[in-house]
Amino acid sequence: MPHGDGAIPERILLGPGPSLADPRILRAMNNPMIGYLDPVYLEIMDEVSARLRSTFQTKNKATFPVQGTGFSGMDSCLGTLIEPGDKVIIAVHGFFATRMCEMAERYGAKVVRLDEDWGKAFDPEAIGDALRANQDAKLLAIVQAETSTGVLQPLEEIGRLCRQYGVLLLVDAVTSLGGVELAVDDWGIDICYSGSQKCLGAPPGMAPVTISDRSLGVIAERKTPPASYYLDLSLIKEYWGESHTYHHTGPMTMVYAMQEALRIVSEEGLQARWARHAFNGAALGAGLEALGLELHVDAKHRLPTLTTVRIPEGIDDAKTRGRLLEEFNIEIGAGIGQLKGMIWRVGLMGYASSRRNVLYLLSALETLLADAGHRPSQPGDGVAAAQAVYLNQS
Ligand code: PLP
Repeated sequence: MPHGDGAIPERILLGPGPSLADPRILRAMNNPMIGYLDPVYLEIMDEVSARLRSTFQTKNKATFPVQGTGFSGMDSCLGTLIEPGDKVIIAVHGFFATRMCEMAERYGAKVVRLDEDWGKAFDPEAIGDALRANQDAKLLAIVQAETSTGVLQPLEEIGRLCRQYGVLLLVDAVTSLGGVELAVDDWGIDICYSGSQKCLGAPPGMAPVTISDRSLGVIAERKTPPASYYLDLSLIKEYWGESHTYHHTGPMTMVYAMQEALRIVSEEGLQARWARHAFNGAALGAGLEALGLELHVDAKHRLPTLTTVRIPEGIDDAKTRGRLLEEFNIEIGAGIGQLKGMIWRVGLMGYASSRRNVLYLLSALETLLADAGHRPSQPGDGVAAAQAVYLNQS
């Protein structure tokens, strides 16, 4: 790597995350340290909670960022809800839900695992059947935006079914919050977590969560406290709530980042932000197809924030990604789990979801594929197809 002088390169991060941080957010992180109970800090915490409520589209009072990356959201939600012996249904259609199964098992859950192909969304009917057969389950967990496959899972009907059977709905929104529609209250989601470094455009380090009163009621009825003290949401909630009871030292730099990220979200507007992600995702998809590449997910369930594309025959996965990084300064992601070596994962999240990045990536990729003998019908076909999407809709 050509950075022996110690300088960190300014990459264009178009992988599965972290995504590019908005420079405004990085500047906000340079603010001075203050105490974790300083009145100014408490005001910032309250603002962050309120702004998260609008971003999650919820009235849940218990809405705050947990200290740690996306997995601290997963770990705290599962660990705070699950007691040993609880039955938990987990819908698995990618890597991240398999991680949920492992975590739930560590907390002593009896996991009922539903599997779907890695690249397809769950049919609500299959979820309904599982709920009917397991009415004693405490919760059903599912990933809205599977970063390992590029599938966007519709949730509205699943939320309705969970209500019907009296089972809590837990949703992983790590690659969706702030990038695609997520309506926690309207869709009947009981507990949901995300990550700071994807569509919110901040660095990794915080996991926004929101917890319904129904879930809080279930947590309050636990016979034993959660195994983890540090990730016990009922304790973290008190630090973020009115009493601001000490639980840990607030990671203020990351909280400044969240505050700025959420201000940016509300300046842009949620609908406009979803539309931007949808638009750039569509342009990228059209461009990749025009380069003769096959997208891994059907148009109906394609995730605009993370596009998965099959690696063509005869193209060297690692070499192509390596050249993209070294020659064009662009990072894209490899496949993981059972899709390793089969797909690339291209993220267009938050600050990085831009026309500029789409057009640049398509032209860089065309160059590298052409070097390896994979040429589109006409030079520039990829960029032209993306341009057509942009010009037709602007
Ligand atoms: N869930 C999903 C869907 C993710 O994409 C990720 C990370 O990519 C995580 C959970 C875990 O987040 P983190 O790596 O920030 O801990």
